[in-house]
Amino acid sequence: MSEATTTDPKLQKLIDAFGLQGRTLYLPQMPYGGSYLLAAAIRSIGVEAATTTDSDARTLELGGKVTSGDECYPQKITMGDFLRIIEDEGRDNVAFLMPTANGPCRFGQYLTLIRSKLDELGYEDVPIMTITSNDGYSSIGEYSQSLIRTAWRAVICQDILMKALLKTRPYELERGATDAVYQESLEDVGEAISAVKVSDKERLARTRDALTRSRERFGRVPVRYDRTRPLIGVVGEIFCRHNTFSNFDLVRLVEEQGGECWLADIGEWVWYVDDEHRRRLLDQGRRYTGENLGRYIRTKVMHSDEKALYGTWEGEFIGYEEPHSVREVLELSKPYLPYTGALGEMVLSTGKSIYMHKKGADGIIDISPFTCMNGIVTEAIYPSVQRALDGMPIRVFYFDGTQSDLERDIGIFLELTRTYQRRKKTVRRYPAYFDGE
Ligand code: SF4
Repeated sequence: MSEATTTDPKLQKLIDAFGLQGRTLYLPQMPYGGSYLLAAAIRSIGVEAATTTDSDARTLELGGKVTSGDECYPQKITMGDFLRIIEDEGRDNVAFLMPTANGPCRFGQYLTLIRSKLDELGYEDVPIMTITSNDGYSSIGEYSQSLIRTAWRAVICQDILMKALLKTRPYELERGATDAVYQESLEDVGEAISAVKVSDKERLARTRDALTRSRERFGRVPVRYDRTRPLIGVVGEIFCRHNTFSNFDLVRLVEEQGGECWLADIGEWVWYVDDEHRRRLLDQGRRYTGENLGRYIRTKVMHSDEKALYGTWEGEFIGYEEPHSVREVLELSKPYLPYTGALGEMVLSTGKSIYMHKKGADGIIDISPFTCMNGIVTEAIYPSVQRALDGMPIRVFYFDGTQSDLERDIGIFLELTRTYQRRKKTVRRYPAYFDGE
């Protein structure tokens, strides 16, 4: 729990502003590893934070009681998990983090709806801490700069460890070995990120060391690589594609049926938000403003941290390289969904699908909550994309908590990708270790 008392007036101000005294701040799993590391970043400023425990049937039951069915599926999951945590941990011990944003989708309404439902249930005293890029995260007060930087590093570490997990697990010889190494690495990196009262430089050095140890750990997992496994790019709505409860752990199901997944990362979204901010300022004729200068400097720092952290895994992601810039993804999407008019995950999913095809993917799965406009739009676009990509299989999988025949559908999809893999013209670049080098 957040410190009973603190001698740091800046921290006390933050704790008082959000009513966090004596409480643990819970973050929804998006994915588990990402929220685990973000919670570590929050602990670095002295606020106790943790990821919500794994969702279960009670999540759906409690979420279902306070939603009508018109809300997005991620909202039902988040709501249900928050209520479950209140019941399990006690209303006096918990607080929740719920970011918000302006934009074309229903995410901007989550905060208001969750707050009003908690109030209706008599939980007016349970705090919800919110942050938004719209005010430069000023709600975090004087900690905003250092916390945002640490949180960005947490995002990069999450992406690195997720990449490592997904490129290793399908080939492991001991079932569960990669998951164990992943968890161990999360804990190691989390400890480095959560260190209190250390400089940015020192935290970066500790995080780099932890990532280097993680690389060595993953390198010791016994594996046998196999070129016949189709590589499946996984794109889609950001919560549902990363929250394994929401998507019935689709990635693992693909692996169990003989595929390997490349999951679109979280950093991509952060870069997209940054790029949108830049474009908005230019459109408003505000190129030479303090706001744009601040954004420019922040972007430089983000690039520098990203380079420093990815550097610890240099040479390990051959064939799985991310685009040099999110602009590359946006430009690939442009003939189908111009990013100047369309917004959000639909643009990124379309562009990333094309990017992954260029890297040698054998198929694309787009994960979408049922009724989410992202999946509805991309499903309409994909037939054209597919024709342009030599017929590579692309399929949208919708989720609302009531899946049936998912394993069968994945099996059919993988058969299509295997056929495509045998006839495709785009060559996948395999890392040398695939051939035992
Ligand atoms: S992207 Fe779709 S599911 Fe996600 S918050 Fe927006 S409308 Fe809801």
